[in-house]
Amino acid sequence: MAMRTLISRFLTANEAIDKLNFRLRQPATREYSVWPDGYKTQIARAINKRTILIARYDNLPSDVSARYSHNYNVLMLRSNFNIRNWWHQALVVHECTHALMDYCNFGPYSTREADAVAYIAEAVFLKALGKSPPSSLEVREKCKPIADVILAGAYYVPENLAADLMRTIASETRIQNETINSDGLRRTWTARTYEEF
Ligand SMILES: [Zn+2]
Repeated sequence: MAMRTLISRFLTANEAIDKLNFRLRQPATREYSVWPDGYKTQIARAINKRTILIARYDNLPSDVSARYSHNYNVLMLRSNFNIRNWWHQALVVHECTHALMDYCNFGPYSTREADAVAYIAEAVFLKALGKSPPSSLEVREKCKPIADVILAGAYYVPENLAADLMRTIASETRIQNETINSDGLRRTWTARTYEEF
């Protein structure tokens, strides 16, 4: 079965996706929200229709397992990707959160804020499964208490936890500080082609 079918089915059917419902307020810029149907409908459909291409891509930096490109609307996965593996599923949730922000069409925003939303979504997903990430990245540690309060029913990420997370992201050299563009899943670059998974 094509990987795009496996991933869109995972997004639609996995019950932990229903827990992805929160809002992160960034006082200087905007509020970011994710909602279950964003993954189950909007992103699952875009993947099915190849508006977002699922690509096999092993040319990622050694410490990167998956990547979403806002410019190419491509979700890059390594050859060893396995949709039945819960950690790989969490990586898909992280990257599909980037895709969902791209879908929202709100214009330029920072990669730091993009990753804050994506790491929180990843943490909520993992916690809903009862799993702990096999990664000691401090950003992931900071998202654990946030996942707890969201799974306990909070909609907004508490201000103090959000501020703490943003400080950690700013100090994390692996997370770039760039401007990306949320453009409603328009493919702005075409210079590169990708191998469909
Ligand atoms: Zn990310």
